[in-house]
Amino acid sequence: MGLLRDVKELLMPRVCPVCGHLMTDCEDVVCAFCAIGLPRYINLNPNLNPNLNDNENPNLNPNLNPNENEFRALKARLGAKASKNEDQNPNDNENDNQNERFWDNVLLRAAWSKADVRRGTTLMAYNHDSPYHRLVVAIKFMDKRELAVKLGRWAAMEAGRQGFWQGMDALVPVPLTRWRRFCRGYNQAEMLARGMAEVTGLPVLNLIRRTKNRKPQSRLNGMARIRNAEGIYEASIPNEWRGKRLVVVDDVMTTGATMANCALALKNADKYAEICIFPLAYAGK
Ligand SMILES: [Zn+2]
Repeated sequence: MGLLRDVKELLMPRVCPVCGHLMTDCEDVVCAFCAIGLPRYINLNPNLNPNLNDNENPNLNPNLNPNENEFRALKARLGAKASKNEDQNPNDNENDNQNERFWDNVLLRAAWSKADVRRGTTLMAYNHDSPYHRLVVAIKFMDKRELAVKLGRWAAMEAGRQGFWQGMDALVPVPLTRWRRFCRGYNQAEMLARGMAEVTGLPVLNLIRRTKNRKPQSRLNGMARIRNAEGIYEASIPNEWRGKRLVVVDDVMTTGATMANCALALKNADKYAEICIFPLAYAGK
C-alpha cells in the first residue's frame, strides 16, 4: 500500500485546495498553513456581540425579518419551546445560559424567521474574496467528492469540541434537483454528511427531496432567493425517525432560506422533529 501511495503521489502530487502548495503526508484536507488560517466561524464570531439587543442586531437580515413583531412573537414561542424540550430530553444539559448563547447564534437567527431551528454551527466563514472559498467551489463544481467527505470529517470534529453533537440522532443532507444530482454525479451536501457520519457515528438519511426545479440559488439574491426556495422541499420521515433531532447539512448558507425551507419541510413531515443546521460555511454578514 505504501508503495502504491508513493507512486500515486508521484503521478498526482497532492496539493492544498486552498493555496495550491504541495502537501506532505501528514497534511490531510488542506496544508498546515491553511488549516491554521481557516476563518473559523466560532473564532470570528463566537457569540456575536453580547451587548446586542434585538432591535439593533446588524447580523439580522432585514429581508428575512420584515416584521419585528412577528419576530418577537417567534422568539417568545421558541423560548417556550426550548424549555419544554428540556423536560423531554433529560440527557440534554442545555440551560438558560445556553439558550441565551444560541439566541446569539447568527445562523439560527437567519433561519428563525421562517422555521424554528434548535442548534446551528458551521466550520468557516465564506467570503468570495478569500482563497478558502475554493474549498466550496471544489466540492460543488470540480468533482472533489473525497474532499467534501474530508471537510465533513473536519467540520464534525471541530463541532464536537463545542458539544454540538450531544443528543443528535441523524444527519439529513439538503438535496439537489435530480438533474443536478445526475450532472454532478453526487450531492456535495451528502458527501459532507458522510464525513460527519464517520466522526459522529450518526446515520445519513435522505429524508428531503426537491419537488420543483427552480433557478439555482446562487444566481439570485435577497427576497428572490427566499421566494425561490419556498415550497420546493418536501420531506417524509419513517416512523422510527419521528421525534428525533435531525441535523440538516449543506455546503454554504447565505440568507438561510434553503436551510429554513428544509427545516419547514421536516417539521411538516413530523411536528415533533427537532431541527438543527450545519452548513460547512456561512456567508451571512
Ligand atoms: Zn494551503
